[in-house]
Amino acid sequence: MAETKIPYKIYLNESEMPDKWYNVRADMKNKPAPLLNPATHEPMKPEELGVVFCDELVAQELDNTNPYIEIPQEIRDFYKMYRPSPLVRAYCLEEKLQTPAKIYYKFEGNNTSGSHKLNSAIAQAYYAKKQGLKGVTTETGAGQWGTALSMACSYLGLDCKVYMVKCSYEQKPFRREVMRTYGASVIPSPSMTTQVGQKILAEHPDTTGSLGCAISEAVEVAVTNEGYRYVLGSVLNQVLLHQSIIGMETKIAMDKYGIKPDIIIGCAGGGSNLGGLISPFMGEKLRGEADYQFIAVEPASCPSFTRGTYAYDFCDTGMICPLAKMYTLGCDFIPSPNHAGGLRYHGMSPVLSQLYDDGLMEARSVIQTDVFEAAEAFARVEGILPAPESSHAIRVAIDEALKCKETGEEKTILFGLTGTGYFDMYAYEKFHNGEMGDYIPTDEELAKYRAALPKVD
Ligand SMILES: *Cc1c(COP(=O)(O)O)cnc(C)c1O
Repeated sequence: MAETKIPYKIYLNESEMPDKWYNVRADMKNKPAPLLNPATHEPMKPEELGVVFCDELVAQELDNTNPYIEIPQEIRDFYKMYRPSPLVRAYCLEEKLQTPAKIYYKFEGNNTSGSHKLNSAIAQAYYAKKQGLKGVTTETGAGQWGTALSMACSYLGLDCKVYMVKCSYEQKPFRREVMRTYGASVIPSPSMTTQVGQKILAEHPDTTGSLGCAISEAVEVAVTNEGYRYVLGSVLNQVLLHQSIIGMETKIAMDKYGIKPDIIIGCAGGGSNLGGLISPFMGEKLRGEADYQFIAVEPASCPSFTRGTYAYDFCDTGMICPLAKMYTLGCDFIPSPNHAGGLRYHGMSPVLSQLYDDGLMEARSVIQTDVFEAAEAFARVEGILPAPESSHAIRVAIDEALKCKETGEEKTILFGLTGTGYFDMYAYEKFHNGEMGDYIPTDEELAKYRAALPKVD
């Protein structure tokens, strides 16, 4: 049979779109470890989590058994505005690399917020609205999550308070203004609006902030204001669940054309896009139905998987959030300011951490000048100007495709292209001017943070 020519872009019809999220935890033999109460070290009870998160999202967070969870019609309707996202066959990149490998990428940057984060933002905002809440609070680093959440909240008529890491607030005015366009209040963190912010400012008046600190502030505001809950854009089990829409669509599109990836690659910050992309494929691997090679790619400047410890740690600097068992660098770890993109969280999704610890997934770290080189090469042939975060996956996809060129193997490579980089042009400028450095933390530095991990037995 003649091979059907694979189109440059594979789309799904509305009728082919997934109507359920897939919960990979249901098929994991070793479940991710439960969140613990930071004071008692006992597993968090639903009513304790309910103080911080919406009830329905608590149920999703704790659900280790149901493999499929129905996507409410209202969320599916919202998804239709910007989904399905295209699955692209990177013919031009293959040609440029002169590789026998077949390269595909799932492009999540086709919405105003510019990344996959909208997939979970709309779900979390929807459940908050359904619970009759007034609004939600959150933190944002580079600003993609805050932007996505602002869009979702304005669509549903919810108030949205975003604690934005101070250095990003100052360096990324455009994203800040996008959030305000969608009606969110954006507060630079640490701020004087919370007790934890005041404490951090008293101790470190010149701090430019961190994600862990912004989380502490957003959680404090949620638990001390009637009608508010906290929402988070990555790391949590519920976020991976919502992001499974990426993998579900990819799987349906690939099955339609009889394509089976050998290698699946994604960048990993808190793990949500990677977890979402690999979920249905990982499910097959866990059930013994198929095998795939999964690769998480992280920055060498924030190497949670490759140099972190699998241990219980705080999710935030203020140590008020539950403890999560994850690959972590320690909750006080802050990547060097010369690190340009996102992917700067100290920890990692507990689901992915367990899968990695069980040897079901690999991880690689890459230096940022290599990442920007890959980003530029990709932009020049595929047209899309990628986000620095996404470009970590591009780097390893290119490396794998070049290996195939050496060995002559015709592997099929799939990677997640999580977003566009229009708001990251200062980083591109540094790269073009040859001013971008590569920072790799020393073993001594990492040991210092490791020693401060909480003792949990
Ligand atoms: C937030 C973000 C990431 C990293 O977050 P994960 O939860 O690890 O997916 C990657 N790419 C883009 C474009 C992002 O906005």
